[in-house]
Amino acid sequence: MKIENLCVRRLIGDVAGATTRGHKIAVKGGYIYQTFQGGYTLTPLGWRVVHKIENIIRDEMDKIDGQEILMPVVCTADLWRETGRYDAMAVLAKFKGSSGADYVICPTHEEVVTDYARSVISSYRQLPFMLYQIQTKFRDELRVRAGLIRTREFIMKDGYSFHETQEDLEHYYKLCFDAYYRIFRRCGLKNFIDVMSSTGDMGGAVAHEFQLVNEMGEDTLYVCDCGFRANKELEDTDSTNCPKCGGKMKKIRGIEIGNIFQLGKKYTESMHMTYTAADGTEKTPIMGCYGIGVGRTMAAILEESADDNGPVWNMETAPFAVEVIGLADKENKTFELAEKIYNDLHAAGVEVLLDNRDARAGEKFADADLIAAPIRLIVSQKNLDKNVIEVKYRVNDIDTSKMPNSFDIKTCVDDTIKTIQKLLHK
Ligand SMILES: [Zn+2]
Repeated sequence: MKIENLCVRRLIGDVAGATTRGHKIAVKGGYIYQTFQGGYTLTPLGWRVVHKIENIIRDEMDKIDGQEILMPVVCTADLWRETGRYDAMAVLAKFKGSSGADYVICPTHEEVVTDYARSVISSYRQLPFMLYQIQTKFRDELRVRAGLIRTREFIMKDGYSFHETQEDLEHYYKLCFDAYYRIFRRCGLKNFIDVMSSTGDMGGAVAHEFQLVNEMGEDTLYVCDCGFRANKELEDTDSTNCPKCGGKMKKIRGIEIGNIFQLGKKYTESMHMTYTAADGTEKTPIMGCYGIGVGRTMAAILEESADDNGPVWNMETAPFAVEVIGLADKENKTFELAEKIYNDLHAAGVEVLLDNRDARAGEKFADADLIAAPIRLIVSQKNLDKNVIEVKYRVNDIDTSKMPNSFDIKTCVDDTIKTIQKLLHK
């Protein structure tokens, strides 16, 4: 991709209306565009990042035997009436079709997935299993805030597991819990924790949230030195004493990026999903559900890592692995070489961006900071005189101080590919 063809508007100067650092950088870098209050278009840059996050999630869900599906966004009210949530859920967006039928725009999919699962499952031999999807959801929230942190429409990974016994659910719940730690680490997030949470609209007994510790977060969390951690909704008392050890708890703020619930039989029972157990009796499966806000994870990375100049992606989440920048000389030799390096990297399957515009170096570097490719190759006359291509890194989880700051012109492409591999497998 050549930077002049990238259909993204990057801004210079201040962003009006952005309330947090991450929101500001997301708008300034042209990752998101506000189409309406609480509804954003993910631009070619933003969508690349979201797609990278989705692929990390897919990889980790598949590792714990998740099976990806895709359910409808819009659903008739019948399924929601079966569980009683059609009337009970405040954020449920409802509308009437031209035939007069009642529809909902799904904010979550317990009803829809249970309807599918009950159509397939008849025997204990088919349990356990986990189905997940990555899809757009809609919550008719009264208030929205801070870019992608709380929006009405958002992309979520939602997973649902079905089990014979509580022990089996707990075993799988732990596998998913550990997978979430791997997912958020691979996204480059550092200061995130799990906290016990209330089950809210979902029902069930045990639930955890994954929270990025951040002063911009809208959730209040109580944490104790003994390891006890809970969401304020759960610890809804004025007491700041730890229920586990009696010590003084600290109050911190967090951005919720994921949640997992042991749902029990709330949905399978109300929707009459049964299977034949080994002893021949009819039984009801036990469910768990597992969510990750995909856009919100991008927002969380920006809140945590962005500096005044732009985002700091790692190699797994960056929209481009490499940006090649040619700086003007009299004979345009730098542009020619920059284009050759770009073509060779592109042919080798590297996600690479080329900036050979007729623009000032300062403008090119400011744009490069906003795109934040982890590897930046700078082709300038000064460096060509030394027979090298300058390398600059922008990665948030690796010390690059001991990595090469220039590649030999001849081996530049090979060395760049090696470095990408190194950064991916840290
Ligand atoms: Zn304690």
